[in-house]
Order: sequence, then C-alpha cells, then structure tokens
Amino acid sequence: MGKVLVTGGTGYIGSHTVIELLKAGYEPVIVDNLCNSKIEVLNRIKLISGIKPKFYQIDVQDKEAMRRVFEENEIESIIHFAGLKSVGESVQKPQLYYDNNVGSSKVLIELMEEYGVHNIVFSSSATVYGNPKSVPIVETDPVGEAASPYGETKIIIEKMLMEYASTHKDANVALLRYFNPIGAHPSGVMGEYPTGIPNNLMPYITQVAVGTLKQLTVFGGDYPTRDGTCVRDYIHVVDLAVGHVYALHKLEEKPGLVIYNLGTGKGTTVLELVHAFEKANNMKINYVVGDRRPGDVTECYANCDKAYKEMGWKAELSIEEACRDSWNWQSKNPHGYE
Ligand code: NAD
Ligand code: UDP
Repeated sequence: MGKVLVTGGTGYIGSHTVIELLKAGYEPVIVDNLCNSKIEVLNRIKLISGIKPKFYQIDVQDKEAMRRVFEENEIESIIHFAGLKSVGESVQKPQLYYDNNVGSSKVLIELMEEYGVHNIVFSSSATVYGNPKSVPIVETDPVGEAASPYGETKIIIEKMLMEYASTHKDANVALLRYFNPIGAHPSGVMGEYPTGIPNNLMPYITQVAVGTLKQLTVFGGDYPTRDGTCVRDYIHVVDLAVGHVYALHKLEEKPGLVIYNLGTGKGTTVLELVHAFEKANNMKINYVVGDRRPGDVTECYANCDKAYKEMGWKAELSIEEACRDSWNWQSKNPHGYE
C-alpha cells in the first residue's frame, strides 16, 4: 500500500476516489490546479476520513512543478483524473482541450519514464465508443468516431498509454471507461457542483429540485426507446470510486495493459431517472420534453462482465440510492462548496 499520485483529486470523481483509497490503506497525494474544483474539498475529505491528504496546487502541464511532486514523494502508482470535461466547451475551444488534456498526459508519461513509476490508471469514458452499433457495449467493440474534441482527447490519451504499455515491459496501464457517474458521498458533505448551468442530467435535476433552476428540459421524446427518451448507464460515484481501488489491486498483479468498462450494465431512460429521483426523495421535478440535443446517442450502456471477471468489481448501489445521495448533498449544500 504505497503512495498514489491522484491528479484531479479534488474534482468530483477524484475526491470520492481519495476517500476509498484512504479506506483501503493507500496514501493519496493530490495534484490539482483547482480550475474546476475547490480547496474546501480537502476539509470535507478530512471530515469523512479523519485524514487531510497531501495536496499540491499545480497544473499537470507544468513539468518542473510536477518534478517536485515526484522528488518529494515515493510515488508507486498514478490515477490520472485531471482534465477538462465539458463536451460543449470543447467544441468552442478545441485547442484548450488538446493542450490541457493531451498536454498534461504527455507530461505525466514523460515523468513516469523519468522516475520509473510504471503503474497508471486513466479516466477514460464511454464516449470513446462514439455512436455504438449495439448495446450493451463490450470492451472489444471498436473505438468510434469521437463526437467532440473532448472525446477525441480521450481516444488520443488512450492511444498514448497503449503505446507506453507496449514499449515499456514494466508498464501496467488500466484504461477505465466510465459510463455516467451520478450521486454523491452518503454523508452529504461531498458531491458534484458544476460551475455555471449544468450540462449533465443529474446536477440539472438537483438544481431544479433546490430551486436554482426553474425547469428541466428533457432533450427529445421521440427516440426509438421504451419511453422515447435516451438511455444511459448511470453509476453511483462511490461504486465508480471503489472501481479505482480494484484497478490498483489489478495493477499490482502486473497485467500490462487492461481496459474495463465501469458502469452498472443497466440502461435507464431520462424519464426513468427523473421518476426515480421523484420517488426516492418524495418530490416532483418540473420538466418539459423538448427538442433533441445535437450529437446525443440513443442508447449507451455497458457490459461490465470483464471488470467483474478480472478484478472482482461490480457496481453495488442502485439508481434510487444515487438519487437520494445526490439530493442529500445538493439540499445540504445548495451552493456547492462555496
Ligand atoms: P472534475 O472537473 O470534477 O475533476 C477534474 C479535476 O481536474 C478538477 O478538479 C480540475 O480542477 C482538475 N484539472 C483539470 N485540468 C488540470 C490540469 N491541467 N492540472 C491539474 N488539475 C487539472 O471532473 P470529474 O467528473 O471528476 O472527472 C474526472 C475525470 O473523469 C476527467 O478526466 C473526466 O474527463 C473523466 N470522466 C468524467 C465523466 C463524468 O461524467 N463526470 C465521465 C467519463 C470520464
Ligand atoms: N439530458 C436532458 N436534459 C438535460 C441534460 C441531459 O434530457 O438538461 C439528457 C441527455 O440528452 C442524455 C442524458 O440526459 O440523453 C444524459 O446526458 P448527460 O449530458 O448527463 O450525459 P451524456 O450525454 O454525456 O451521456
């Protein structure tokens, strides 16, 4: 159980993963430039775990500053969350996304070589499958045409890490393709709070519930699905976080390159999620069904058998629990970490 460098560790998925790492006996060292997270997260981690992890406010693209982290800590493995993740913004500012996401990964890989750190877990996404030909998606399905520069950065970084794995005999690389993370820590002190108007469904629902936003627009009611709305695989962020601990254990077996879908294996429509939220929290969500959102795929959910077979990991928490935890967090923190 050694030191794990967690880039992007104050972000939504990173912060929940830090909790699970501490629980499992690892020593997380967080690097984050706070471009999309708040320093207060560290206090919340302490509140939950009793431990305030070591933190560096550094941009991963800054190689000199990153060297300090490797010099000062005996890093054994890396979980690389740091990156920009807004699909819409990436269409407006593609260069920013290539620079930040690909650029920071390049620096990290160079430092892995320099310091002989060979284990890395990377935050990839179901978006690499593009518009899937069939569902549920298995890992051997082809990586598709990226729907956005954001998606393209995930495909490029996956390739960089695959090449790293194939050219370094000691390298162990886990590419984790996340489906749709939702939910929050059950304590209600940690969760997701996007800056500006949320793009994603769950934070939009919770902000309607808390009264910050008036009404949810369901993007499209005429898809060929059971109720006309799109299908996604919503996974509780705590399950997802736990998946990273399993991935680190897997890397300790020295498997070389491994790729896993992290989802629940279950597809849920937009309206089913809205209704699950209403039921779990005993409230009504004001919504209208509007036009389709350009670029949305009809159905996207995972087959997660491989992660179970090879790592023993599977999602344990239900959509209802995720809805309850999302609301618990949002209602206790109507302005996020502010
Ligand atoms: P997040 O924005 O909450 O966390 C990312 C963190 O990285 C933030 O704290 C941000 O400040 C930091 N960061 C960004 N660029 C950085 C840089 N150059 N140097 C240092 N820190 C930097 O996002 P998240 O939802 O926790 O996502 C984490 C990772 O998972 C991202 O790579 C994202 O693309 C990927 N992912 C997320 C989802 C999702 O729906 N949330 C789905 C699939 C994949
Ligand atoms: N969605 C919606 N209204 C919103 C936000 C999202 O109807 O305000 C739908 C969206 O069309 C998609 C699903 O919710 O079918 C999940 O969208 P999200 O952006 O959260 O994830 P992704 O599309 O990246 O899977």
